[in-house]
Amino acid sequence: MLTSNQDRLSNTELKQSVLSLKKKKNCLILAHNYQALEVQEIADLVGDSLEMAKYACTTDHPLVMLCGIRLMAETVKMLNPEKKVLLSHETARCPLAEMKKIDELLELKERYPQAEVVCYVNATSDLKAESTISCTSGNVGEVISKLPAGKEIIFIPDRNLGSWGAMVSGRSVIMWDGYCPVHDQITLGQVKDLKMKYPRHKLAVHPECKPEICKIADYVCSTSQMISYTQENDRVIIGTEIGLYRQLAAKYPEKDLVPMSEQMICANMQKTTLAEVAKTLADEENEITLDQDIMIRAKASLERMFRLTGN
Ligand code: SF4
Repeated sequence: MLTSNQDRLSNTELKQSVLSLKKKKNCLILAHNYQALEVQEIADLVGDSLEMAKYACTTDHPLVMLCGIRLMAETVKMLNPEKKVLLSHETARCPLAEMKKIDELLELKERYPQAEVVCYVNATSDLKAESTISCTSGNVGEVISKLPAGKEIIFIPDRNLGSWGAMVSGRSVIMWDGYCPVHDQITLGQVKDLKMKYPRHKLAVHPECKPEICKIADYVCSTSQMISYTQENDRVIIGTEIGLYRQLAAKYPEKDLVPMSEQMICANMQKTTLAEVAKTLADEENEITLDQDIMIRAKASLERMFRLTGN
C-alpha cells in the first residue's frame, strides 16, 4: 500500500528518493530484464534470475531488493542466506511456477523412483527442493545431456522448456504440463506472419515458447543470451516478454528491433513501480523467509547444476 504522498511524486522525485534510501541502507537493488525501464534505471544489476542471485553473492550489501517475482527473490535468499532479501511487490508471483503443486511431483517420483528430476529455476522453492538438479532457459539442453545415460528424466514445471531441452539433448523426458501463459499464447501462425513481414530479421525466441516456434527460430535463448544476440545483429524479432524488447529498443535506437507480440506482457513482472520500490525499501517490507530444510535442499539442486555446467 502506498502513501498518498508517494502517489503524488514524479518519477524523477521517486528515483531520487530510491537512490538516496539505497545509499543510506547500503542496499543492493537487482532488477529482472522484464522490469519497467524506470525500475531498471535504479538497479545495480539488470539480468536474468540466476545472474541476479549470483551477483548478490559477490557484494557485501547486507540488504538486497529484488525487483521481479517472488521465486527470484527466494533464489537470491537461498544463495545469500545471511542477507535480508526484500521483494519489490508483495503479490508479484509467477503463474508458471505455481501452476503445478508439490503433491503431483511426489506422485510422479513414486512412479519413477530412479528418475532424475530436472527443475527449471522458475519454480517454487518446494519444487526445487524435491528435484535432483536445476536448469535455466539458457542451459537446459546442456544439463539434460550431461545426466547419466539411461536414467529416466522428469522435467518440471514448463512443458515447452522441457521439450526444447529434450530436442537439443536428444534425450527422452517425462514432462509436466505447466506453461508460461505469456509465452505459450503465441501461435506458429502469428510467428510465420511476422517472418513474412520481416524477412531480413533474425528471429530470437525464449524456449518458454511452443516447440514448433522454437524449431523455426534462428536462435533459442535466455533473456541474457537474447541481449548478446541483439548486440551482434541489427535486425531482430524479440521473442519474449515486452519488457526485454523495451530495454533493447531504448539501448539500441539505431537497430531495427520488432517485438514478437505486444501482447507478451507479464502482469506480475509489471506490478513493480518506482513508488512500490520506494515504499518497500523505506519500510523494509516483503522480506523473504524460507523454511531451513527446503532452503538447504533447493540450494543443493542449484549447486549440482553449477558443478555440472561449470558456472
Ligand atoms: Fe512467469 Fe512467464 Fe511471467 Fe516469466 S513471463 S514470470 S515465466 S508468467
